[in-house]
Amino acid sequence: MEITIIGSNCPLDELKKNVEDVIHEIGLECKLNIIHKMKEVLKVEEKQILLTPALVVDDIILCQGNIWTKDHIKEFLTRKCLPTKSNANVDKKYSMWKGIPREEIDWHPIIDETKCVGCGMCITTCGRNVFDFDIENKKAIVSRPIQCMVGCTSCEVWCIYDAISFPDKQIVKDFIKKNKILVKSKKELEEKLR
Ligand code: SF4
Ligand code: SF4
Repeated sequence: MEITIIGSNCPLDELKKNVEDVIHEIGLECKLNIIHKMKEVLKVEEKQILLTPALVVDDIILCQGNIWTKDHIKEFLTRKCLPTKSNANVDKKYSMWKGIPREEIDWHPIIDETKCVGCGMCITTCGRNVFDFDIENKKAIVSRPIQCMVGCTSCEVWCIYDAISFPDKQIVKDFIKKNKILVKSKKELEEKLR
């Protein structure tokens, strides 16, 4: 796994500290790149990085123009490292998206435990059974991340405590382009209109 942090001064330092703390905490083996120079940042622009500080894991832009908290980073990296565990109890009807295994797309809600008050709104309203309730801690947890509809962010809107966030939506747009999803979509549309 390759983790790249782009930016300068304090925002970069804060993001770097969050990433390093999480790497240390979960014992992750990875290559960590720090990019300071604007010239080098421009080279990454083909990945649509327009704002700094930015955090990129492999070819996924997690944040740009804001600083992900340790909780966000930890949840993402843990799930990325433990795909088998995170895919447990997944309803098979959600295992593919546009003909592609759903686990290949890093898109799911991330809960900031410090903000979640356990109101249950996300758990009871998501139509895809993505969440469970942690009775002991009285908080929502993301138990079946790959059941989340790719590109949906509804639960982020429903959570009035702003405890839910998502990776940068550019991830989904890039995935659609890279995997020629629009060709499949066109065929699906033609079949539907027959
Ligand atoms: S809607 Fe927000 S505060 Fe309520 S349970 Fe879900 S994450 Fe927690
Ligand atoms: S984004 Fe949509 S599908 Fe995904 S967990 Fe939230 S409400 Fe459910």
